[in-house]
Amino acid sequence: MLILYDGIFISMDQEEHVYHNSALVIDKNRIVEIGDKDTILTKYPSCDEKIDCHGKAVFPGFINAHIHTAQTIVRGVAEDLGRAPSYTKLVPQGDDLTDEESYVFSLLGAAGAMRFGSTFISDNYAHSSAAAKAFEQIGIRAMVSERVHDVDFHGLGEGTYTVIPRLGEELLEKNLALFETYGGGEGLVTCCFGPHAPDTCSPELLKKIAELNETYRVPVTTHLAQSKMELQRVKEAHGCSPAELLNACGLFDEHLLAAHCVYLDETGKAMAARDGVHIVHIPEGNVKAGSIAPIRELQERGVNVVIGTDNGAKAFHREAELGSIEPGKLADLVIINLDSLHMTPCTNVLGNLIHLGQGSDVETVIVNGTITMRDGTILGIDEEEVKKDARRIAYYKWQDANPFLDKTYTYLF
Ligand SMILES: [Zn+2]
Repeated sequence: MLILYDGIFISMDQEEHVYHNSALVIDKNRIVEIGDKDTILTKYPSCDEKIDCHGKAVFPGFINAHIHTAQTIVRGVAEDLGRAPSYTKLVPQGDDLTDEESYVFSLLGAAGAMRFGSTFISDNYAHSSAAAKAFEQIGIRAMVSERVHDVDFHGLGEGTYTVIPRLGEELLEKNLALFETYGGGEGLVTCCFGPHAPDTCSPELLKKIAELNETYRVPVTTHLAQSKMELQRVKEAHGCSPAELLNACGLFDEHLLAAHCVYLDETGKAMAARDGVHIVHIPEGNVKAGSIAPIRELQERGVNVVIGTDNGAKAFHREAELGSIEPGKLADLVIINLDSLHMTPCTNVLGNLIHLGQGSDVETVIVNGTITMRDGTILGIDEEEVKKDARRIAYYKWQDANPFLDKTYTYLF
């Protein structure tokens, strides 16, 4: 049993309760009680650990509904290339990595997400089974999918679209293999389908996934209307918009989590509102691409736009268990330090968090009732080892992918 006391508890429940002078009790993996501090500390004198949260705020853990942890290998370079890394030449691609190499970058990416307060990530990339192992090790809750596509990614940087049906079958098999290991949904890792995008999957492949999901009934994560190039490609190949293609293939429904949606047209917006599609807003991607998704308009039309914790839980159909601090819910929590120069004065905790908060303000992370990061240290990994491995692999992978790139900095350490 674990007790957090004396912090400001931002519940994010229906009534948006904020608790002061309070304590929160965690038994095994669930929140069992929240209430007056003195009453609770008297009631549970012999708990395993008490954490003093004075000067800190306790939030429900953040949900990152769209991440590619192993793509940390391209960080610092891909940002300036103007396109998503998968569409870019001279960049290491997922299938250039082995399972072992991908595992290291998934550890790195998941550790970074946890350090910034994520307790639940939806990860989609090549080598999904290696990623799942990394997430189990680090103790982060994760929904994992294989990046399924049958267009060869190696031609995309040149604007060449070659459909290789066998590739789609192989990747779909890898996606389905996750269901055999994690399909029960009892552990921290669960799985879903991950068709990459309307311009990198043939209609046949998209239809096949829609058919399978009539049985599995799980979330389907994808990219949608991410670039003008995608719009043009889908129009040329299929004579419709990317949203219309997904709809025609049977994927445009309440299971779909569509990332980006920067270039969603009028019909696409109306369809998203009508069909209960969840839209994942990627502000960082918008900034890099210099185009902003029509988020306010989508919200006004009633679309669930995912960025925060409460609507993230809803997008994964997990709102009964996650997304708020309430008795009975799973104990996924972050403790955030408010006692810093940039958080002073703290007149409105939420306002401070949204406008001033930094990843480094996250001090301690609890996932499923277990402390996974304590005072800034992630407990499931040796951070020095992960950094060392990631630098070593990045050095030779970039050598292969782009011999012109100066790798002095990676070599420095
Ligand atoms: Zn993405």
